[in-house]
Amino acid sequence: MQENDFDISKLTSFKVGGKIRKVYFPESVDEFVKILKSEPDAVVAGNLSNVLVSSDGYDGVLICTKRMDEIKIDGNLVTASAGVRGTKLSKLAAANGLSGLEFMIAFPGSVGGEVYMNAGAHGQMVSDVLKSAKIYSPENGILNFSNKEMKFAYRSSICREMPYVILEAEFELKPDTSDNIQKRMNENLTFRQEKQPSLTLPNCGSVFKNPEGDSAGRLLEAAGAKQMKAGGARVFEKHANFIINDNNATSSDILILMDKMSSAVENKYGIKLIPEVRYLGNNNEKEVELCRKLKMESIKIQK
Ligand SMILES: Cc1cc2nc3c(=O)[nH]c(=O)nc-3n(C[C@H](O)[C@H](O)[C@H](O)COP(=O)(O)OP(=O)(O)OC[C@H]3O[C@@H](n4cnc5c(N)ncnc54)[C@H](O)[C@@H]3O)c2cc1C
Repeated sequence: MQENDFDISKLTSFKVGGKIRKVYFPESVDEFVKILKSEPDAVVAGNLSNVLVSSDGYDGVLICTKRMDEIKIDGNLVTASAGVRGTKLSKLAAANGLSGLEFMIAFPGSVGGEVYMNAGAHGQMVSDVLKSAKIYSPENGILNFSNKEMKFAYRSSICREMPYVILEAEFELKPDTSDNIQKRMNENLTFRQEKQPSLTLPNCGSVFKNPEGDSAGRLLEAAGAKQMKAGGARVFEKHANFIINDNNATSSDILILMDKMSSAVENKYGIKLIPEVRYLGNNNEKEVELCRKLKMESIKIQK
């Protein structure tokens, strides 16, 4: 399926974003590869839970994987296509007595987005359980990468450096009782409910990465960020590394607030926080300039 001039705010977890010139919604790996070949300038997104899309839109092509929903289970190996939601995968693994994906419970992201940035929580991350990934390379076609070849690091994989697209991921899990798995999932859920906003308060998860040996939330709180706001965006009262859009915030409001937060930490501690969330937009020069100042990455074109 393909849509033109698509209002992306309907899909972003921030509920922010203007119109995108063309958006594709492939339903299978084969269809995804065909679109990637025919649209070399396209950017790829999953569930848009880690992207700030400009309220002035994006004049370009986006491929959104959220309809690619295939999961296969073979013994303790679980294979999921790029668009599968982390929460769904986590629950299905638990129902099959397979442990290792408990950390993905309540993750709004897709498998593709989670592998791309080696998502993690509660002391676990994708790189602990990923066995292999099926990748599309514009130069070499479809490749199978082992865990080692994915070059995982904190919130990073080889796909951040190279124009690689994740088509599918295979996870190697460990058998355990459903009761044990459910207990760990409940602990993770309770932690999230106490410390983090749910999606009823539109947000994009952690705004900044943790600097080495410290926590972005701690530094931001100590620098007074919990009291900060800009336009319709404000810092979450229970955790200073989350921004909430609860009053029709624009992407500019959010970038201005990020700049205030980052500057406060830099002025107090001399530490430059680097955004975890990335930007998509090409119609607003002031925003592009703010992204440069913040050292915020853009979603890259998969050429
Ligand atoms: C309430 C909330 C809680 C969160 N909690 C956590 C948490 O605990 N831990 C954590 O790590 N993150 C967390 N996040 C952030 C987010 O869910 C993760 O970063 C997730 O991995 C993003 O997945 P996505 O499908 O939404 O990716 P998107 O936001 O759609 O894209 C993010 C990046 O991944 C790239 N990408 C997406 N799919 C592919 C693909 N198939 N191939 C290549 N590149 C791709 C995009 O180009 C983009 O650069 C949270 C977010 C929210 C809103």
